[in-house]
Amino acid sequence: MNQIDRDPLLLTPGPLTTSLRTKQAMLHDWGSWDAAFNRITGEVCRQLVAIAHGEASHVCVPLQGSGTFSVEAALGTLVPKGGKVLVPNNGAYCARILKILGYLGRQAVELPFAEDCPADPSAIEAALAADPAITHVAQVHCETGTGILNPLAEIAAAVARQGRELIVDAMSSFAALDIDLRSTPITALVAASGKCLEGVPGMGFVIVRRSALEAAAGNCHSLAMDLHDQWQYMQKTTQWRFTPPTHVVVALHEALAQYTEEGGLAARGGRYAANCRALVKGMRSLGLEPFLDPAVQGPIIVTFHAPASPAYDFKTFYAKVRDKGFILYPGKLTQVETFRVGCIGALDTHDVAKVVHAVGATLREMGVSITAAVHG
Ligand SMILES: *Cc1c(COP(=O)(O)O)cnc(C)c1O
Repeated sequence: MNQIDRDPLLLTPGPLTTSLRTKQAMLHDWGSWDAAFNRITGEVCRQLVAIAHGEASHVCVPLQGSGTFSVEAALGTLVPKGGKVLVPNNGAYCARILKILGYLGRQAVELPFAEDCPADPSAIEAALAADPAITHVAQVHCETGTGILNPLAEIAAAVARQGRELIVDAMSSFAALDIDLRSTPITALVAASGKCLEGVPGMGFVIVRRSALEAAAGNCHSLAMDLHDQWQYMQKTTQWRFTPPTHVVVALHEALAQYTEEGGLAARGGRYAANCRALVKGMRSLGLEPFLDPAVQGPIIVTFHAPASPAYDFKTFYAKVRDKGFILYPGKLTQVETFRVGCIGALDTHDVAKVVHAVGATLREMGVSITAAVHG
C-alpha cells in the first residue's frame, strides 16, 4: 500500500484508511451544475450497478449522508405505508433497521437470532409462510456489530419462493463479497462510499430493481429521503437533487478506478480475507480469541474477547494502541466484553502484522497477562 502520510491506520469498518490517490482526488472544487461533475456521478452509478451485475434489471440511486440515511431512504421509499417488514435480527445493524421502521411507522416483525448465529433461511421462510401480510424482508448481509456473515443467497431464494421483496443492508460487504443480482433475487441493495469501496464517507447508494422503484412513487414519508424523487430528478437533469457531496463523489470515482486496477471484487475480497486470516492468527498468538466461530466469521471485521485480566480496560488499551499509530474499534455486544478490529480499507497483511505487534506491546505495557488470561 502506498501509505506515505502519517495518519493513524484505521482498523475500523468505516471511515477507513484511504489511499493517497483517493485523498488527492478531493483537492478540487466542483459545481453541482457542471457537466463534468455530473458525468462523474453517472459513471460512478454505472460502475456500482455493474459490481452487483445488475445492469439489466437495477438502477443506482445515490443519496447524500452516511449509510444509515440510505437504509432509511430504501425502507421509506420501497415499503408502502401499509407494508409489513420481517427483520431477521442477529446484531446491532439489524436492530437499527427495526428502529428505523419504528420511526417510519411501518409495521415490523422481528425474527431474533443469537448474535453468534447466522440468520436461518428456513426460519425466515417459515415466518413468511405463517404471515401473508409481510410484504418485505430487510436483511443485513455482514452484521458489522459482530462481523458475522448471513447466508444471503439462501435467504434471497427463500424470500423469492414466498413471493416477497428483499431489501439488503450490504453496507459492509458490497464490493468485497460477491452479490450477483442476475442469480440472486434482491429488490434493493444498500451500501455506501466509505466501506469496502475505500472511498471517503458522505454518500450512500441504493441499487434497486427498476420496476420496484417505478412502483414506489408517493410511498416516502420524507422529501429528502425519497429515492424515487431523487432518481426521477437525476434522470431528467443528470444532477443531484439538492447539494451533492462533490468531494465524496470524485473521491469515490478515484477509489473505483483503483478497485478496478486492483482486480475488482475477487482481488478486494481476497485482500480482506488475507487481512482477516493474518489478524486472527496474530491475535491468537497473543492469546486473544475471536468471539465468533470461524465458520460464520466474515472477512470484514473481527470481534475479539477482551482479556480477562483486571489490568485491562478498553480506554487505556485503545489510547496506547492509538499512540502506536492504529485506531481500533470498541465492541458492540451487551453480554460479553469485546473489542473489534476491521480488516477493510487500504491495508494489507504487512499493516496487520504491525497492528498485532502494537497490540502485543500494549498488553505487555499494561501488565495484562496474555497467556490463558482470556475468555474463549
Ligand atoms: C456502516 C454500516 C451502516 C451505516 O452506518 P453509518 O454509521 O450510517 O455509516 C449500516 N449497516 C451496516 C451493516 C454497516 O456496517
